[in-house]
Amino acid sequence: MADGRQAGTWSVTVDKDLRPSYYDRFRCLAAGCKLSCCIGWNIAFNKKDYLSLKRQDASPELAERLDRALHRLRNNGDGSQIYAEFDMSDGVCPLLRDDCLCALQAEKGLDALPTVCKVFPRVEHYLPAGYLERSLTPACEGVLALLWDMPEGVDFVSDPLPREKWRKLTLEGDTSLIRYFAEIRELCIDFLQDRRFPLPRRILLMGMVLRELADGEKDIPGWLIWSRSMAETLASGGFPEEPEQEKLLALFMTDTIQMLNRLKTHDPGLKRIREDVLAGCGMSFTGGNRATLRIAPYREARERFEKNFGDREYFFENLMVALLFYLNILDLTSAETLWKSYVNFCNLYAFYRFMAVMSCREGSAGDTEELFRTMVYVSRSLVHNGFRRADLRDELFQNDSATLAHMAVLLCG
Ligand code: SF4
Repeated sequence: MADGRQAGTWSVTVDKDLRPSYYDRFRCLAAGCKLSCCIGWNIAFNKKDYLSLKRQDASPELAERLDRALHRLRNNGDGSQIYAEFDMSDGVCPLLRDDCLCALQAEKGLDALPTVCKVFPRVEHYLPAGYLERSLTPACEGVLALLWDMPEGVDFVSDPLPREKWRKLTLEGDTSLIRYFAEIRELCIDFLQDRRFPLPRRILLMGMVLRELADGEKDIPGWLIWSRSMAETLASGGFPEEPEQEKLLALFMTDTIQMLNRLKTHDPGLKRIREDVLAGCGMSFTGGNRATLRIAPYREARERFEKNFGDREYFFENLMVALLFYLNILDLTSAETLWKSYVNFCNLYAFYRFMAVMSCREGSAGDTEELFRTMVYVSRSLVHNGFRRADLRDELFQNDSATLAHMAVLLCG
């Protein structure tokens, strides 16, 4: 390889962190949060947290709440990570008090909470880019508010880690792509933030260059240079002719409505959004019947969306950058997994875009509150459900729809 990095076993010492700059500004909205993470979805945790909750030395009131709240999950693989959950059958965590504070935290302190509650919406991972990467999920209203307030775009900051947090990562097998993880991801984020193009074209540009790697390009340093020069060429007017967007819209609608239809859920918040959006499209699915596709309601919602939020494209750029980073989307294990991860990213974009537009459906307020409500529940249903994301992505592969041409469909809405 041009810069001497060889395939095979590869080690990197992680001695610094990397985080979007808004990470440090995050504060829970607490009682001001309209979409509390204690309401409307599943909160599952591991065996250690379950046992710790069971053994709490609690006041009678807290003990009664804990008793109602704890629900052991069975038939869940080895059960070690998803061992139990809080009973959300009423749609609300039984530990949530009327004053919107957690009864467990109020009485026993932060350390008594299961890890998922303690860290939400934060996550951190040691990654082969050589960083301990810290990020925030867009499934939190407070995080969306931060992304909303960043018209200048997302930037990243890094600090050295204390010695006790250093870690050596060793990778084996075909490491020819993964050892360029930092450079490849940086290129993708630069493309996502290249405001010379509309956002869907930036994502398409990502696909055009990643396709070369997926097709077996081995000279990664040469590919990085070529990719950047490609962006320059396209910026000076060389982007392929815009396909007839309206003709693609029916395909886009078919894909996204199928995704929505597959998001069957018991979570009351998501269920309501799903039903509202399906009704807004003039559709409902009952008893496995196929509904007739209607495009006009989407077009009308899109007009309203452009009117209300046309100046907020930076928010969707920030959201996609946040997702790429938070989900560690680029899977550079192999050329095949790389393409799968790009397809997954386009799927996410399509679904977020569809749902964002439909937040302006006829009869809805079409305001920021409704947009955030929709974005939070899309995030909770997809970002926090890897099986669901894989399922939606694999469907495209099964239907021979995982091509670059079909990605243009997913990006046309
Ligand atoms: S969703 Fe975010 S802002 Fe709202 S209560 Fe949870 S952590 Fe706080």
